Amino acid sequence: MSGEQGKKVISAIKGTKDILPSEVRLWQIAEATAREIFELYGYRELRAPVIEPTELFERGTGASSDIVTKEMYTFTDKGGRSITLRPEYTPSVVRAIIEHRLDLQPQPLRFYYIGPMFRYDRPQKGRYRQFHQIDIEVFGEKDPAIDAEILEMAHRLLSSLGVTGVFTLVNSVGCKKCRPAYGQKLREAALAVKEQLCPDCQRKSELNPLRIFDCKVESCRALAAGFPRITDFLCEECREHFKKFREYLDLYGISYRVEPTLVRGLDYYTKTAFEIVTEEAGAQNAICGGGRYDDMVREFGGPDLCGIGFAMGVERLLSVARIKVPERSFVYFAYLGEEAKKESLKLARNLRSEGIECLVEFKERKMKDHFSRANKLGAEWVLIVGEDELRKGKFQLKDMTKARQFEGSLIELASIIKGKKILETG
Ligand SMILES: [Zn+2]
Ligand SMILES: [Zn+2]
Repeated sequence: MSGEQGKKVISAIKGTKDILPSEVRLWQIAEATAREIFELYGYRELRAPVIEPTELFERGTGASSDIVTKEMYTFTDKGGRSITLRPEYTPSVVRAIIEHRLDLQPQPLRFYYIGPMFRYDRPQKGRYRQFHQIDIEVFGEKDPAIDAEILEMAHRLLSSLGVTGVFTLVNSVGCKKCRPAYGQKLREAALAVKEQLCPDCQRKSELNPLRIFDCKVESCRALAAGFPRITDFLCEECREHFKKFREYLDLYGISYRVEPTLVRGLDYYTKTAFEIVTEEAGAQNAICGGGRYDDMVREFGGPDLCGIGFAMGVERLLSVARIKVPERSFVYFAYLGEEAKKESLKLARNLRSEGIECLVEFKERKMKDHFSRANKLGAEWVLIVGEDELRKGKFQLKDMTKARQFEGSLIELASIIKGKKILETG
């Protein structure tokens, strides 16, 4: 593409997207709501860097994961180090816990984070190379009550943002004690039908048959439906945890379905796995996914600290949310002449100190043109600053939405504006 002077026009990198002011209000409201709700449950924000050493994610996700084999956004920096733009947040938090010895603080540790993640795959509709997640993590809490509490918190966030028609899938993927025996049975079942599986699943049948359940190919799904189920192989501890978890879900009145094929995409999960899905045009889409990872911190060389968390895709969340964006309210200054312009600049400065949004445009206009301009911009208020007003120190304030007018000093008018704001927003 070429610009006017024949200069090459630079566009955003493929798979990334600008969030323009017309759309960003939705993001701000969703993010503010998430922060507010998480803080109510005692979560605190932990901001980790966007770039990390590549090995952090190779260790964190297990070498057989798709996320490692084909989706990481990895490059070599000028120092010859392999750097990866984080594909998910949990490994960064685990690294930060170990690095800063956060495990020495009172437990459980509750963290949240909202920000961009990256993956390098073929961009397709609704999938971006830079996408955004709302992420929470809890470390050092074994009690299954926390598993239910984070789900309750996720549901609270979804309903606060007007997301309806969601339901919850839960499963237990077992632990180090009980998963190997199940893995063996599953491998046998997968190998028995290996020829009928897709090439990807044929590879998985040897390496990690659990991941065959993630396959989207219809014939693989049909075969996987006949495979042994993890819930029949759980050890005493895992079975008890799963039972208690569901009891606490009942306590919160969260309806759910046990989905034995739900194993989540990542290898590091233990015990609880869950998804919250929405139904659109007959297709189920996960809006939130999470689970427990009790061995992860230790596998990263840290202390024995169990963990659980979830991630919510913001793009997906906004596509199903029904968020009411409040109208912008601001004061437009209709002034005549240089003297009144200067006075307007001073008045605007004072009103802004009162928390009132102001717009003083610098172009000379007739009074009639000021009003049509204010209308076009959607101003709620117009403050008239003419010679008379300057002399008297009293101004005319027009309420554009209710076709009424007030006269008074700046302080009086400021309190009218603020009073209406309180009345309308509660
Ligand atoms: Zn177990
Ligand atoms: Zn397959």
